[in-house]
Amino acid sequence: MGLLQLGTALDWPEAQKHADRVREWGIKQLLEIWNKAKTKERDALLWGDEVEYLVVIYEKDQPKSLLSLRQAEILNALESDAALAAKCTKGQVDGASTGKDPLPVFHPEFGRFMLESTPGKPWGIELKELVEVEPNMRLRRVIAKDHMRSNEFPITLTTFPRLGFPGVFSDPHYPVSGPKLRSQFVPDEIANPHIRFPTLAANIRSRRGRKVQVNVPIFRDKNTPWPWKDPTVNYDLHQYPEDDDVRNGAAPENYIHMDAMAFGMGSCCLQITFQAKNITEGRQLYDQLSPLGPILLALTAATPIYKGFLADTDVRWNQISSAVDDRTPEELGEAPLKTSRWRIPKSRYASNSTYISTDPRLRPEYFDPELVVDEAIKAELMHGGMDELLATHFAHLFIRDPIVIFSEDLQTLDLSQTNHFENLQSTNWQHMRFKPPPPDNSIGWRVEVRPMEVQITDFENAAFAVFIVLVTRAILSFDLNFYIPLARITENMETAHKRDAVLTERFHFRKNLFRTRRRRRSPHAGDGSVSGTSTPNPQSRPETPLNLGAVEDEYRLMSINEIINGTSYSVNGCKEPSHLADGENFPGLVPLVESYLDSMNVDVQTRCQLSTYLDLIRRRASGELWTAARWIRSYVDQHPDYKHDSAVSETVAKDLVGAVIAIGERETQGTGWKGMSVTGIDKLMGDFRGCEGRQ
Ligand code: ADP
Ligand code: MG
Ligand code: MG
Ligand code: MG
Ligand code: MG
Ligand code: MG
Repeated sequence: MGLLQLGTALDWPEAQKHADRVREWGIKQLLEIWNKAKTKERDALLWGDEVEYLVVIYEKDQPKSLLSLRQAEILNALESDAALAAKCTKGQVDGASTGKDPLPVFHPEFGRFMLESTPGKPWGIELKELVEVEPNMRLRRVIAKDHMRSNEFPITLTTFPRLGFPGVFSDPHYPVSGPKLRSQFVPDEIANPHIRFPTLAANIRSRRGRKVQVNVPIFRDKNTPWPWKDPTVNYDLHQYPEDDDVRNGAAPENYIHMDAMAFGMGSCCLQITFQAKNITEGRQLYDQLSPLGPILLALTAATPIYKGFLADTDVRWNQISSAVDDRTPEELGEAPLKTSRWRIPKSRYASNSTYISTDPRLRPEYFDPELVVDEAIKAELMHGGMDELLATHFAHLFIRDPIVIFSEDLQTLDLSQTNHFENLQSTNWQHMRFKPPPPDNSIGWRVEVRPMEVQITDFENAAFAVFIVLVTRAILSFDLNFYIPLARITENMETAHKRDAVLTERFHFRKNLFRTRRRRRSPHAGDGSVSGTSTPNPQSRPETPLNLGAVEDEYRLMSINEIINGTSYSVNGCKEPSHLADGENFPGLVPLVESYLDSMNVDVQTRCQLSTYLDLIRRRASGELWTAARWIRSYVDQHPDYKHDSAVSETVAKDLVGAVIAIGERETQGTGWKGMSVTGIDKLMGDFRGCEGRQ
């Protein structure tokens, strides 16, 4: 999240009038950055993670656990302490030569019950630094906890199990049906009070013409009434026009029904940002990491409960997508196009829709045939010197309206700023984000990996962060090719939602990561562009027809075990039957990362520590270890208060939160989980075999 600007935020009807100007100025700012930074070279390989937390109130003797809405107070306390620490360091020692890392940074998030932390400075390229990530994450959790009340805890469950269930679920408690969200389940006060957030939620609702509809299929247990009707939905509210939504079918049978942005943007994730050495490498990483998104989502699945009920899906992604879906009925294809400019197949929070690399292995067949671009914006970007591929990417992001506009920003266009560009860029929530350098050029071209669910422990969070870092190293050193058609990635993203997708589903994945296919460049293509993209612009159609058949042969359905561990992996000597044809072996991402490590000079201790992380990924993929989603389901299932009717009671939710806090405490104390009485903890975490300090 960027800096929070103060000012006068416009309501939707007013904001909409200025949308074209914001886009126009945003494009001018983008061209300014592009022209300044396109030749930027030799930036350091840096990376950093973001971990998001829920702040919960938990007391053993209290009947329920609540969300704490003290985000602002906690952040203030953290900030004044950090300022104090910085002052002390400066006064006592020369800051540059202390060798001490700057303190971690804490940020606000959408939910007033959320926090985000990042390391004090990005990590460098040294493999040795990878072993500092986990202790740094633990330190952040300890620091966060130190600035909370004794009964408040930062936990990394993706969603609070009882958010939105009628009754009291937060402290303080506020009545529902506020004017901004108009939600019948959560109060306006659930969102960060900074004007940006309630305006974002209100303007999305207003643009849509109704409330957002977040419907998650209910998990059908043996005592779940069927068909199931969400018992928490109130059909008798008559305060706002939007109260009609549920009477107009917003809450279908067999779905948990939610109606506010907080149900999506109130979920916690784990994000990783990489700085590339130049724009070309940034574009390569953006493309190559993109097909891994759904695989990472399934591997990190951690979201089986919504609003007090077990869902039939395991991850948060589609719920966030619906929670910020501002499309009008015309854009959704529910009404003929009259005032909207086009039909748009995806929410502004969705999987990637573009590839942007100058890699000659990028074939036109991989592009999204449904891609919508603003042709005028694309032309303007190309006129300003941007190549067609990147211009298409941004002209796609710019089909959206800016949702939050501050009137102060509409006075003058400041080309040394990025406010208008960021307005669109930062409200296009795709599973990867291509981040241009800020105007001062101190930072390089960056790529952010966004699909992962936050994990309960920092061991797991560090494992996934480290794994992705190592995958990027392997991509760059072996020049790996993960390209598949974007439409298959979109499909994979859906597949990743299924219960236990990590074990039971198969995903489209490229068979040969090494085979290169050099294409002839179009004689007309400018520097860095490949010939032809399948955007709706007739001028940019490739001269030769698409050869979809040939591309289909490049990928096939694979299990995550095959993708991660390869086709020759065996658990206790038993090999999973391969889905690949004879002779079609797949090396597996973990073995590839290991070959990369073999080619590097890594000291024994570092290598051992890295192996414990790779082990977690490997065993998660093989099913030897559980996802958090699986563990939470098992915890609920075995709780004496659970009636096998899909309802997660206050007692069950409270004990689940208590178990998660206990796991966190064991972890920060470094005592491990041996002998811990939490059900299935060994299945979730393994035995922490390996290097010193672990059991
Ligand atoms: P956002 O919320 O916009 O994604 P944050 O500032 O919360 O951004 O997080 C950005 C992450 O990128 C942090 O982990 C930070 O350490 C890391 N980071 C900062 N500067 C760089 C850089 N130059 N290259 C790579 N990563 C960086
Ligand atoms: Mg952030
Ligand atoms: Mg965010
Ligand atoms: Mg952000
Ligand atoms: Mg965040
Ligand atoms: Mg981020």
